[in-house]
Amino acid sequence: MLQNIFDTHAHYDDEAFDADRDEVLSKVLPEGGVVRVVDCAVDLLSSVKVLDLAHTYDYVYAALGIHPEQAGEERKGDLDMIADLLQRHEKAVAVGEIGLDYYWEENAPRDTQVDLFSRQLALSKDLGLPVIIHDREAHGDTLECLRKYRPAGVLHCFSGSVEMMREATDLGLYIGLGGVVTFKNARKSVEVAAEVPIDKLLLETDAPYMAPVPHRGKRNDSTYIAFVAEKIAEVRGMDPQELVDICTENGKRLFQMAD
Ligand SMILES: [Zn+2]
Repeated sequence: MLQNIFDTHAHYDDEAFDADRDEVLSKVLPEGGVVRVVDCAVDLLSSVKVLDLAHTYDYVYAALGIHPEQAGEERKGDLDMIADLLQRHEKAVAVGEIGLDYYWEENAPRDTQVDLFSRQLALSKDLGLPVIIHDREAHGDTLECLRKYRPAGVLHCFSGSVEMMREATDLGLYIGLGGVVTFKNARKSVEVAAEVPIDKLLLETDAPYMAPVPHRGKRNDSTYIAFVAEKIAEVRGMDPQELVDICTENGKRLFQMAD
């Protein structure tokens, strides 16, 4: 069994864990080799919930921010309150989950999303924190914002090409890979998994979503990172535990964690 797993992107505040959240976080994950989790908020309310989880479980850390799918719900003052929480709580290690999502038609207009994303990128620079970026069908505008603000951070659930990966890693960004690399139709993700510089790779779940094969379609949790690590290690010709260990160190470096 793989040990020393760092899940750099999960949503344990999600209602999918309402029935057994404490069992999962106090038992299933630690017993499954998970040593660290960054739990990502999607708005102000979930920022409070995510912080609460980070304060309850030693190995859970918090990313606070407004997700692009919530851009239309932002109220005046929300971001100021999130900034305040980020400054006051040591276990808040990133601004996230933020970004652009042009996939869903019901999302806020593109200029609204770019405006919110830009303000959160500026905030991350002000606070000296990395960002966790969601980019769905918005590669061009995402790269443009990243070139402009040059944040430290990770492109989570990376869905771009090898060329885009190279531009992102040249900007110093990390690449987050999860369950998608195990999917049958994941040619592009597998190419990225093979080519990404090993010191820029992070493992993640996006739990409860994106469960890897053989659990595809089920509720995801951080222990399933083992399937992702096995797949990436296979395409790179590496030992899976060695891959996990390197990715865990990468995550600690990005999120400025002491040990
Ligand atoms: Zn997410």
